[in-house]
Amino acid sequence: MDAIRFTVEAQQDQARAGVLTTRRGVIETPVFMPVGTAGTVKGIRFEALESDDLDAKIILGNTYHLWLRPGIDVIKSAGGLHAFTSWDRALLTDSGGFQVWSLGALRKISEEGTQFRSHVDGSLRFLSPEISMEVQAALGSDIVMVFDECAPGEASHDETERSMNLTARWAKRSKTAFDQLQSDGADTGRREVECLSGAQALFGIVQGAGHLDLRRISLQQTVSIGFDGYAIGGLSVGEEKSVMFEVIEDIAPRMPQNAPRYLMGVGTPEDLVEAVARGVDMFDCVLPTRNGRTGQAFTSRGKLNIKNAQFTNDSRPLDESCRCSVCRRHTRAYLRHLYIAGEMLASILLTHHNLAFFLDTMRGVRQSIRSGDFPKFRREFTERLGANGE
Ligand SMILES: [Zn+2]
Repeated sequence: MDAIRFTVEAQQDQARAGVLTTRRGVIETPVFMPVGTAGTVKGIRFEALESDDLDAKIILGNTYHLWLRPGIDVIKSAGGLHAFTSWDRALLTDSGGFQVWSLGALRKISEEGTQFRSHVDGSLRFLSPEISMEVQAALGSDIVMVFDECAPGEASHDETERSMNLTARWAKRSKTAFDQLQSDGADTGRREVECLSGAQALFGIVQGAGHLDLRRISLQQTVSIGFDGYAIGGLSVGEEKSVMFEVIEDIAPRMPQNAPRYLMGVGTPEDLVEAVARGVDMFDCVLPTRNGRTGQAFTSRGKLNIKNAQFTNDSRPLDESCRCSVCRRHTRAYLRHLYIAGEMLASILLTHHNLAFFLDTMRGVRQSIRSGDFPKFRREFTERLGANGE
């Protein structure tokens, strides 16, 4: 049995509405996946993620963070990441490649893997395709990502090419190790939960920074290895936004039609809608949760900084067109007060609304593709965002 099934059910130009069936439930695409770095989507309870308000069908876990703390033995003995956190919907884990990459000078890359110092205790650690696959099998996630190397946004052609070829060799090693672990029964999720029918799925990652010729080669290299899904990595890492969209526009339509396409780590609500228009199906980003903690709300009329004095007596909800429980109940004035007073509830409520806005935007995107109204949705969405009179 296939690890996942993916069907495109409606398409308008490049925009696709589909259904991704994982061993832990059915996910309608395009989908936004809240980021649960260390076994928690920061600032929000699992009940809220599951509520009708948000109804997140899939979230992320970070291999790097969970591997360092609490460590794989703890999660294994708890029965995998699902059992440990008590989340029984789908989980995607990244490979740790990006986190290690973002350590910058603290890391050393060799053919074998990456050596780095742990940000937790300063210890010297080593991550390779094989170790990343082993950790992700122990976590028991439903979608596993290959271990890749990411070239910086402004990397030269030569530098990017070297990095991309290393990524291709690591992808092959990831696949070999992954297949072996599956046949060895190392997938904690499957061992611990008898009703789980399928195996873990493995996604490949296309690299190549802003160089379209390299992106196309990387895509070819990745597809020739053969994965359950394909991701575009290494964007939103300091390159110009126009470069990012140029890459997506060129690469997404060339990716396999019958597999999900995942744009890693992007982006703002308008980025999501624009990437859907270019053929992307899956997204993750820390923006709704991270910005929620710093007092920023995403609304249908653009961003709003709750710390601003203009909201002191504002009795309106964060977003008058939002139906989330925060907007139904609380005023901007109250949220501003909480934030200024340093109350933790400010972060919790802003995070909740932000996630509701991202997830609801994707709901609207899916509906509009299915009803053939996506161009209209896209136009009106963008106009409203720009209309912010705050
Ligand atoms: Zn809201």
